Amino acid sequence: MKSQEAVKLRNYGDLVDRYDALLGRCFDGGPAGEIDRMPVYHMTLRGDSPAPQRWLLGAGMHGDEPAGHLALLEFLEQDGEKLRGRVDLDVMPCINPWGYEYDRRENSDGIDINRCFEEEALEEVRLCKGLLESERFDLFLEFHEDWEFEGYYLFEVRQEEMNRLGPALIDAIRSHGPIYRHPEVEGFPVMDGVADATPPLLARHGIGSKPLPLWLFHAGVSYHTITSETPSKHWDADTRIATHLSIARNCVELLTPA
Ligand SMILES: [Zn+2]
Repeated sequence: MKSQEAVKLRNYGDLVDRYDALLGRCFDGGPAGEIDRMPVYHMTLRGDSPAPQRWLLGAGMHGDEPAGHLALLEFLEQDGEKLRGRVDLDVMPCINPWGYEYDRRENSDGIDINRCFEEEALEEVRLCKGLLESERFDLFLEFHEDWEFEGYYLFEVRQEEMNRLGPALIDAIRSHGPIYRHPEVEGFPVMDGVADATPPLLARHGIGSKPLPLWLFHAGVSYHTITSETPSKHWDADTRIATHLSIARNCVELLTPA
């Protein structure tokens, strides 16, 4: 599509400068491929020996959800060094650089990448799968935003034997703003801001492996995923960034007690 009317609102180079600064500190990795001639990064954090947990962190799937990009960067910049040895990290900070620059949910061809993980046709999907499909993570934590609602919610996708994180994460951010009040989101039941999805519900829902967290789940890459969704229209940017940050820090406290 390369939408003619698209207006560039942000500069992906600003994010790249911050990724490169992280690589100069405690992170390894770097550009793992190119989308629309822009580098897509895969960064890792490792201690001297394997940490008790290994997580995948993601943001930037949808370009019009900027608090996710920025919160993930702040988390890595502020907490990265402290986490070395406590949790091993793989980070995919932005798979949709064009969307970030033009404030679009979709990629430059007008495609929602997060509905395409059952296909190999999309470059972004091939890139993610090539990097991740033979890996195994204790947690996949990703940051999104939702413009439609005034309350915060999160998706938790897990094997039934995994302990739930969602209710404690909601309690940790309750003071930031209203929690999502409706009984369902995207066809999943929601209780007090948590859409808790285990295999029987996922089978009934029928969305399959189209979104990245569900592809990771069904491919056995991560049996526990948290998708944090801040209200992009109703909360200011600082609050949304602080909320994602708090979710990340509380995952650390809950899963890797010091
Ligand atoms: Zn999103």
